[in-house]
Amino acid sequence: MGKKEQNSHFVCVVCHQHVMPLRNGGYRNHCPSCLSSLHVDDCTPGDRKSHCHGIMKASSVKFSGKKGWQIVHTCLSCGVERVNKIAQGDIQSDDWIKIVRLT
Ligand SMILES: [Zn+2]
Ligand SMILES: [Zn+2]
Repeated sequence: MGKKEQNSHFVCVVCHQHVMPLRNGGYRNHCPSCLSSLHVDDCTPGDRKSHCHGIMKASSVKFSGKKGWQIVHTCLSCGVERVNKIAQGDIQSDDWIKIVRLT
């Protein structure tokens, strides 16, 4: 699967928001509205190797000096944790109010 397909728009399974790809070509894997994601990646973001497909809820945020703010997602099915970049400066930026509530 090419980068173009991976970065296409998707409909959030949690809040049914239509999520458009990032304009800067960055890889978006979570919903900017409810911050939920799906457990589809195994090791690296975008590899689509996981067979879990559980819903990943944003559980907390952490700050890394180099990467800035990141969302910690926890899978409701298998409990795995993933750290993801926050999407900012886009038409559909991540909901900052929801991010702040996680801190
Ligand atoms: Zn959503
Ligand atoms: Zn999972």
